[in-house]
Amino acid sequence: MTALDIAAIVWTLLALAIVPTQLRMAAPYGRHVRAGWGPSISNQLGWCLMELVSLLVFAGLFLAGPNGKTAPMWVFFALWVAHYVNRSLIFPWRTRTRGKTIPLAIVGSAAAFNVVNAGLNGLYFGWFGAVYPTAWLSDPRFIAGLVIFVAGAGINLWSDNRLIGLRADGGQGYAVPRGGLFERISCPNHFGEIVQWSGFALMCWNLPALSFAVWTAANLIPRALSHHAWYRRTFPDYPATRRAVIPALL
Ligand code: NDP
Repeated sequence: MTALDIAAIVWTLLALAIVPTQLRMAAPYGRHVRAGWGPSISNQLGWCLMELVSLLVFAGLFLAGPNGKTAPMWVFFALWVAHYVNRSLIFPWRTRTRGKTIPLAIVGSAAAFNVVNAGLNGLYFGWFGAVYPTAWLSDPRFIAGLVIFVAGAGINLWSDNRLIGLRADGGQGYAVPRGGLFERISCPNHFGEIVQWSGFALMCWNLPALSFAVWTAANLIPRALSHHAWYRRTFPDYPATRRAVIPALL
């Protein structure tokens, strides 16, 4: 086991260790923003900055590293870059949150998370991990993982788009989302993101990618539970059969 694998295991254990805190305390951004978290900046700029870290750190380490750039490696690279181009450069500016703010503490901690997460994955693919042979493209783990990744990304993008569309009237309030997976769960965008990075972990079959999937679930399951409780408090007629984040389960 390499030092990078050990670091990924420690990092994964940290994700699990902070779940109780995440369950107790909703991270203060979006609908859960509240006073007492220090200075804030523009929500859109904050999202752009904190997510750009992940794009730059991963791409820099991948491209600069000596590992061979085989076809499967380029697929991993393309998926990561496509996701983070959207998340850092497109998504923030499409949200209808102009004038809203996000605490610098959240931006800073998300950026720090992204340095470690993108750092571990970038070091693995670019420098110290396996060089995946072209034959990996036909490995069942690669194929199944890719299908799961694409399905999760599709759900995530569709759901974020639907939420953004709820403010088509130019307002900044909240409405009950309807349609598609929203009829089953409150947060299909979070569900899709968890599915997506689980698929990535499967197709890469390495510990840094697994740590990212675990972190995504550790971040987003508590956030979705907070959102779900908030919807129920805020809308008395909120559909009673809707779950929070995993259809029919949670
Ligand atoms: P939310 O669902 O809280 O918000 C997404 C956007 O839609 C925000 O602009 C929000 O506005 C708006 N919105 C949400 N619900 C409603 C509603 N009912 N009515 C009107 N507008 C609404 O998502 P997050 O902010 O938690 O996350 C954004 C994206 O980032 C998601 O795709 C998520 O999966 C991803 N993410 C990934 C993480 C990871 O660890 N991999 C961690 C965190 C997020 P407002 O901001 O005003 O609430």
